[in-house]
Amino acid sequence: MEAYENLLDKAYKKVKVVSSSSDRFEIPKVKGQVQGKNTIITNFAEIASSLRRPPEHIAKFLQKELAAAGKLDSGRLILNTKLNSAKVNEKFELYTKLFVLCPVCGKPDSEVVSEKGIKIKHCLACGAKNPIKYHF
Ligand SMILES: [Zn+2]
Repeated sequence: MEAYENLLDKAYKKVKVVSSSSDRFEIPKVKGQVQGKNTIITNFAEIASSLRRPPEHIAKFLQKELAAAGKLDSGRLILNTKLNSAKVNEKFELYTKLFVLCPVCGKPDSEVVSEKGIKIKHCLACGAKNPIKYHF
């Protein structure tokens, strides 16, 4: 059993890899199902890896935006409320705009760094640095 910090560290290292992806960035569409009072996003891990951000960070964002408690469960995200997929897709798009896409060149090859306590989105394609204005 590996320490949680190590796993997280590895995840961050992985997300820094720059791919020579095509110009147009597409987020995989959410696959979800409603079970009782919960909404389960079954392809959450796949979406997180395509956004190249730690799943925990995206999960936290979604929980805040959708005002729901949630937990990660073997690659799925279980949210404690009933949601339609349009609403969830909309939040993934917002996340991508805020934390992934470069506002200058529009490419998704970015990393989030901290400078003097401010979170900065650093674009690895064009070098632009933009502060992230969303806090949670
Ligand atoms: Zn850029």
